[in-house]
Amino acid sequence: MDPMRPAPDTLLIHGDRDLRDDSSLAPPILPSVTHSAADAVEFAEMASTPRHPRFYTRYGNPTHERAARLITGLEGAEAGLMTASGMGAISAVALGLLKAGDLAVGQTSHYMGTTKLFTEMLPRFGVRTRLVDQTDTAGLLAAIGEGARLVMVETPVNPTMAVTDLAAVAQAARAAGAISVADNTFASPINQRPLAHGIDLVVHSATKYLGGHHDLIAGAVAGPTALVEKIWDSAIVLGATLGAFDAWLLLRGLRTLPLRVARANDNAMAAARFLEAHPAVEAVHYPGLESHPQHALARRQMSGFGGVLAVRIRGGYEPAARFVAALRLFTNAVSLGGVESLAVHAAAMWAGTLDDAQMRAAGVEPNLVRLACGIEAPDDLIADLRQALDATSA
Ligand SMILES: *Cc1c(COP(=O)(O)O)cnc(C)c1O
Repeated sequence: MDPMRPAPDTLLIHGDRDLRDDSSLAPPILPSVTHSAADAVEFAEMASTPRHPRFYTRYGNPTHERAARLITGLEGAEAGLMTASGMGAISAVALGLLKAGDLAVGQTSHYMGTTKLFTEMLPRFGVRTRLVDQTDTAGLLAAIGEGARLVMVETPVNPTMAVTDLAAVAQAARAAGAISVADNTFASPINQRPLAHGIDLVVHSATKYLGGHHDLIAGAVAGPTALVEKIWDSAIVLGATLGAFDAWLLLRGLRTLPLRVARANDNAMAAARFLEAHPAVEAVHYPGLESHPQHALARRQMSGFGGVLAVRIRGGYEPAARFVAALRLFTNAVSLGGVESLAVHAAAMWAGTLDDAQMRAAGVEPNLVRLACGIEAPDDLIADLRQALDATSA
């Protein structure tokens, strides 16, 4: 190992070593929201330093600083900012960088909160927004070329696992003078590093892979110092401050990220291959499969394909519901990226209000099930999928 440029696995264990307070190897939990200054000069310095880790926790916190150090190291970024949630990070980026009259370009398919931000909230403040199909690279580049100030992409995206061309978007954004932002939650920095493709800023729901245990809510922004400080300036007003205990849990979860993601990648690939060959399955959406329409692009920009896949069960809504109900290791719950495998029947959220045709029109196939693989043994997960498919067709 080169101690100056360690691999991600090493960086996550030792990258925050110089930020230790004392001789303790495991970090302490630091709940204090305020810190003493030695004199007026030090107080003034604390108050005027962006993200100072020891002034007031809404401005910064020693545990935020350590978690941000690890995440920025993984993403290859200059600076980082921790927030109370992924949406806290995304809204701080948007509200920190946009003003009335600006054009913000996004995707037709985004995390639900981001879609709401683009379609409802930003327009209320006079920001013009344009959402484009992310698989239509030419359309995306054309929208950016119309004078965009900010471009938001998310790849792979929920629930179809469609992929966005990061290098093409980054290049078009640069040419247009726009700031490009990538939500890297689904891939994690182990599988994909958007900054290496020219993207300006990365945002994360650290609730997912970075935390990894379904026991904390957190978010992160990583990018150039000047942009991160500008976003921080709004974030301290918006107030989505990461709590000390969640920051500590996140720091603990981050240590094992590469091991967990490697297993989740393997599990999802094994599940995708098994499901694709099963007669009860209509289609599998996973960027690691050769049958994924953007497999070549995924291979170019990802080193692993992540733990999330979507499967369409033959026969429509009812068999898909029976499949989810029959799963024993995959728990029927929202979220992803933790050690436990989870399953969501996307259309179940609209059951009772929309029929099959209406669901399709809303972009949700009635038979689509999202599987988020955890880190259980692959053979056990496959056996679970097999018995649930048998129960579905019985
Ligand atoms: C979960 C998620 C978010 C929102 O994160 P929270 O931590 O729940 O606020 C944003 N983007 C993606 C891709 C997500 O999966």
